[in-house]
Amino acid sequence: MSTLRRGLSSSVAVAAWRAKPVRIAIHMPRLAVPFGASPSLAQALYRVPGGLMGRQSFHVLGAAAPAVAPAAASTATLPDAIVTKAHGFTLHRTQFVKEYGSHVLLYKHDKTGAELISVLNNDENKTFGAVFRTPVDDSTGIPHILEHSVLCGSRKYPIKKPFVELMKSSMNTFLNATTYPDRTCYPVASTNTQDFYNLVDVYLDAVFHPRCVSDRRVFEQEGWHFELDNKEELLNYKGVVFNEMKGVYSSPDKRHHRIVQQALFPDNTYRHDSGGDPEVIPDLTFEQFQQFHAKYYHPSNARFWFYGDDDPVKRLALLDSYLEEFERRDVNSSVETQKLMHTPRSVTEYYAAGDGEEGEQKAYVSVSWVLSDTVLDVETELGLGFLNYLMLGTPAAPLRKALNDSRLGAAVIVGGVDDDLKQPFITLGLKGVDPADSDKVEVLITSKLEELAASGFSASAIEAAVNTIEFLLRENNTKSEPRGLSLMHRAVRSWIYDRDPFTQMQWEDALSSFKSKLASGQDVLGPLIRSFLLNNHHRVTVRLLPDPKLAANTAKEKVQLEVAKGAMTDEQLNAVIENTSALKELQETPDTPEALACIPALQLSDIPQSITKVPTSSKALTDGATLLSHDLFTNDVLYLEAAFDLRPVPDRLLPMVPLFCRSLTQMGTASESFVELTERIGRKTGGISIYPFTSAVRGKEQPVAYIMVRGKAMGSKSADMLDLMHDILLTARLDDRQRFTQMVAETKAFMESGIISSGNLFAAARLAAQRDLGAALAETMAGLSYLEFIRSLAKKVENDDGWQEVKSDLKAIRLALLQRNGVIINMTADAATLSTVDHRVSDFLAALPAASAPTANAPQSWSNALLLPRTNEALCVPTQVNYVAKAANLFQDAGYELNGSAYVVEKYLSSTWLWDRVRIVGGAYSTFCSLDSHSGMFTYVSYRDPNLLDTLEAYDDSANYLRSLELSKDELTKAIIGTMGSIDAYQLPDDKGYSALTQHLLGVTDEERQLQRDQILGTSIKDFKAFADAIEYVRGAAGRVVAVTSLDKAKSVLDKKPDFWKVNKVL
Ligand SMILES: [Zn+2]
Repeated sequence: MSTLRRGLSSSVAVAAWRAKPVRIAIHMPRLAVPFGASPSLAQALYRVPGGLMGRQSFHVLGAAAPAVAPAAASTATLPDAIVTKAHGFTLHRTQFVKEYGSHVLLYKHDKTGAELISVLNNDENKTFGAVFRTPVDDSTGIPHILEHSVLCGSRKYPIKKPFVELMKSSMNTFLNATTYPDRTCYPVASTNTQDFYNLVDVYLDAVFHPRCVSDRRVFEQEGWHFELDNKEELLNYKGVVFNEMKGVYSSPDKRHHRIVQQALFPDNTYRHDSGGDPEVIPDLTFEQFQQFHAKYYHPSNARFWFYGDDDPVKRLALLDSYLEEFERRDVNSSVETQKLMHTPRSVTEYYAAGDGEEGEQKAYVSVSWVLSDTVLDVETELGLGFLNYLMLGTPAAPLRKALNDSRLGAAVIVGGVDDDLKQPFITLGLKGVDPADSDKVEVLITSKLEELAASGFSASAIEAAVNTIEFLLRENNTKSEPRGLSLMHRAVRSWIYDRDPFTQMQWEDALSSFKSKLASGQDVLGPLIRSFLLNNHHRVTVRLLPDPKLAANTAKEKVQLEVAKGAMTDEQLNAVIENTSALKELQETPDTPEALACIPALQLSDIPQSITKVPTSSKALTDGATLLSHDLFTNDVLYLEAAFDLRPVPDRLLPMVPLFCRSLTQMGTASESFVELTERIGRKTGGISIYPFTSAVRGKEQPVAYIMVRGKAMGSKSADMLDLMHDILLTARLDDRQRFTQMVAETKAFMESGIISSGNLFAAARLAAQRDLGAALAETMAGLSYLEFIRSLAKKVENDDGWQEVKSDLKAIRLALLQRNGVIINMTADAATLSTVDHRVSDFLAALPAASAPTANAPQSWSNALLLPRTNEALCVPTQVNYVAKAANLFQDAGYELNGSAYVVEKYLSSTWLWDRVRIVGGAYSTFCSLDSHSGMFTYVSYRDPNLLDTLEAYDDSANYLRSLELSKDELTKAIIGTMGSIDAYQLPDDKGYSALTQHLLGVTDEERQLQRDQILGTSIKDFKAFADAIEYVRGAAGRVVAVTSLDKAKSVLDKKPDFWKVNKVL
């Protein structure tokens, strides 16, 4: 599978637990940062693909809720404004799609044949997308490099990085670009209409008239080039994508996915890696790159998408202004179908592992099938989605449970049905397997499938699956992804293969037909298992084995580079040296203010001056409990959180808390088994999750720390949800040793892959834990300290005495935690629903023990002894890239007082100085800095970075950069507007309610938010200089460095700077 896939766009067919595949995109969303606005490292880490939370959630999407959904068009009658012929377009088809409350119009551009889907509804979060079919013949990564490069300047926007300018200065709610194995997508979104059109214009100009096809330097910068400063030095490869893919190739999870995809599709484009194999990327020439753009980035090979409440005719005009200068032509870009084969095959490969501990079981073993080589009808797709959910969707699902219970491996591979490509495929397997057991895994999978085909699923499991899938379809909660974008991915999945794009949006009839078949007792799932899996011989077994000798895998590249250098004449070497310095000079020369003015921007007057307030009513309940209610339209869904103070839990038990949280839902209760409890959650709710939440509080010495119990259900089932929470909290069994042992192994595997693929989170968390008590609590429950704890716990649960201790620790946590005093309940729903829940909340609280109970612990204060020692540290793992973090605490070290302007400066610094030095010149995939407004931690991080010391130097020079900065009024305005875009990020109602809760917990008032907003809007160049003085302290004695890197590189730093850091071999 490719590393190139969107995770959220899962169709109805795959309404289930599945891989959240890595997407290759031009930048990493800032969401993935553990510090700053995200108070809980645990949450940030659990958001990592395949994370604990991610694993429990599933991504059905997209459907709109019933007719009253906020996005719904007010009527099913086509609006008068619709024209059948205008601006070079002809309307070919219209359809009112009730699932999304939208009119969907399919246009064709007369001159070029370009297709456009124009979706009309009341959603203010307007979305645009341009999609090109871009199949590949090799693994040089052309489409991926092109995806990066077209956003580096174009005909109308002749500057170096319009993309970054847009990040910096627009109000976008989404801005990125993504490469798939067979297509490239350019989506943007905004709630501000003018901003939306600005974004669309820049994107259209970028894809059709990019500078990169005439300017080799862009290709060299984003793709690859030789770097050489003088003849004596070693030759080097540099390039943003080159380095990004080195990071991807360092992750065994991703390597496994790639091998599976390549083995399943030996005959079509999917056998290659469109993201680029670092060993092959340097084979790519500029001429091939130019030809690829000329061939595929043409209107005749394009599909466009508009969605939202903007003027539908203006869309046509805007698009036509770009398309009209092209002539129609035949573009052969179709994706061949992989014919199903008749003999199963197996593949054995190796990945770079650390030398690890004795007897460590680390193989990946999986079985995968391509499900079909013909087009499936919607109902069959839907059936496969149900099947996928029933087999794997929850930890209690039979196939997933069988894999876990077998103890053949540490964790189930996050897989399931993947339907983003032309043909759907499925992957089932385990990682952390003893290589000697790999045949057993395959036998287990097939025998479990046979058993399920013969005996089927229980009626209660089916009922739970139906409820869960339907709930999520109707809730249409696309999280931070705009709903329009999620719908686009759904349509494109058919459209891109010349199939009917409308079928993917219309699932209601298929759903009810499928449901009635299930209800009638007809065996619909057994035949699916037999025909698509058991009797399908297009099956591949993949074994991926650890090889410590491959670690870092730099030897091959070194040889390659030596050979290349040896073959160069003196003249050629000089040319490389010249090119290196010319490129650097170009990269370091900023665009002039006049040039930058080409990027359209809003005015400050377009920005609302006041903060958006979430309606909140607060009520004191008995025993110091609080009820917060938010009257928001949620389409009959009730979102409810209960926050329990963690302070009564003794320090020594903290690292056990995350597993305690999982145990609550994964061991059964007094009256039901784990499977029964899971099914009840599925039947009655849209999901319940439990996790720790911690954060510093500005101006206070003590942080806050809570356990969050979060659930959602239809308003009519609120009593059932509260009953469930009650049973889970008070009667969860907490004594299932087998399940606990599995969770420990799973967590260990998850954390170990996390530190390789998201080293930035671990490095930043480690730094924060030296200075911020809230972060120290988080690090204990989610960072490297937690991994160390988990490793010892894995040994402890193996012996009976150890397990007895663990059991009593779990019970001690519950006893300490569960008291009604001070509990905060947070509810989000419309007023009518809220009023029906009020008294149930009181009953729920009354059933909890009071703090005056003889067993209760008094709340403690968190002790500074929990802080990590202040030191520089290298966390060493097998990897080809680095994650470099440096931080200090501006409140404590610099005496800095928070001012809203800090948000403007940090965003500006991230997208100018740091982006230029660390990404453009340095070749790292990403970098930024961020101030945590609660703790005062100011942290720089880099992501998939080839450098260490150079990056630190760039960080250290930040203050000087700010001091010497001259900022035109226009640029300052853009920086302010861009900051407002992040502050006013678009939120669905559950997010609004949750944000209000966190503000309450952290004591953030509306007055304070308004003050900060005023400060942001009033930011001046003086604020930039003042901030420079504050971050000077990061360079000075207060600054500390933590990097995730390889052992070799960590040691090479010591050669240059003895005692620079403590080398800590993690893997
Ligand atoms: Zn990329």
